[in-house]
Amino acid sequence: MGIKDLIVSLQDNPYFGAGAGLFGVGALAAVSRKGLQFGSILFRRHCMMSLEVTNRDKSYYWVLSWISKHAKQSTQHIGVETSFTQTDTGAVHTQYHFVPSVGDHYIRFQGTWIKVERNREVRAVSDAAPWESVTLTAFGRNKMLYFNMLDAARELAVADEQGRTPIYTVRGINWEPLGRSTQRKRTLNSVILKEGVAEKILADVKEFIGNPQYYHDRGIPYRRGYLLHGPPGCGKTSFITALAGELDYSISTLNLKDSGMSDSRLNYMLAHAEPQSIILLEDIDAAVSSKDGEMKRVEGLGNVTFSGLTNALDGVASSEARILFMTTNHLHKLDPTLIRPGRVDFQQEIGHCTSWQLQQIFLRFYPEESSIKAQQFAEEIGKLPSLVTPAMLQNHFMHHKSNADAALKSLEQLIVSRDEK
Ligand code: ADP
Repeated sequence: MGIKDLIVSLQDNPYFGAGAGLFGVGALAAVSRKGLQFGSILFRRHCMMSLEVTNRDKSYYWVLSWISKHAKQSTQHIGVETSFTQTDTGAVHTQYHFVPSVGDHYIRFQGTWIKVERNREVRAVSDAAPWESVTLTAFGRNKMLYFNMLDAARELAVADEQGRTPIYTVRGINWEPLGRSTQRKRTLNSVILKEGVAEKILADVKEFIGNPQYYHDRGIPYRRGYLLHGPPGCGKTSFITALAGELDYSISTLNLKDSGMSDSRLNYMLAHAEPQSIILLEDIDAAVSSKDGEMKRVEGLGNVTFSGLTNALDGVASSEARILFMTTNHLHKLDPTLIRPGRVDFQQEIGHCTSWQLQQIFLRFYPEESSIKAQQFAEEIGKLPSLVTPAMLQNHFMHHKSNADAALKSLEQLIVSRDEK
């Protein structure tokens, strides 16, 4: 049979005819699928704009809260972030903030629909923070849309931060805002230290911030270290928070006991702290319980060595003012080399209440009472067998909110509540 006859006989064969038909349909589908993909790529490339913002960028958290404000009505999947704020009198308020959860969301901005994809990827590297990003995609090629959106997000964040003290903590190798728990600014006069102490520290910090030239001219690192020491509950942390508020600074707090902390990471974090931020190292005594040589790991800490800590403190330098606050409840435990000038330039004890403090705190809680009553209150406290802290007083007064006489009559409870702790 010749080739022609073969083709004719195959055409007559019903099975072969159906197969060829199916093959044709399949091929057509494949071609059109490819065409569609290609078309969609072309379409995305020429008719749509994408913007990726990652959590390595400062604007990431602004954009996220801006999206949560806009996406609130239109999206079904949202996550929650809880924050706590403490008022000047010590009461704690809980707030919930909704944020868009991982996935796709759609929002409308300046007449254009924007698709928002939020992604999170946990990397294998143990000490790295999860990599997160949001990708915004919109029709058109007008980049102003994104500029306007970023501007709106920044304005919103600035308005949100008004009256608040942002707090940053270490996450991976980044300083990141501590959830939404930016603190409401605490006023400096709400923290009552021994007479004149708050003013003295404030004046020192202001003098430091106001004189960059002095440091630059002499080639001295533009940094200043402060150490506040004294028993717990006397206002070390509260004062630093209030000071940050007064200066319009944020707080970058770092925990030396963090298991993921190492010498190199500590060094890196201190060297890359947020601008206009007070670096706060609390309970620094935890870091110096070892005096047996520099190479020994510091007891109770992740991987921070004593020499690692001192090197990191020495390395804190920047063209802008770097303020470092350290706190401890046990000054005597500190190795003298840790607090030598250059590392700690200003030391201040924040101790138990003096008579003056007792009267001021009393009048702050009971502003309608007379100064004679406040004096009498301080005298009564003076008769107690042990010293009291402002935190104990705050606790006592909160039990007798509007009744100064009851607070006065039950002073022995102050000591009981302390002993129970
Ligand atoms: P510390 O850091 O010394 O342990 P905190 O600042 O954490 O003390 O204080 C604990 C609580 O006691 C806070 O709620 C704070 O409001 C209150 N408090 C402590 N000291 C003072 C003070 N000097 N003036 C006003 N409130 C204080």
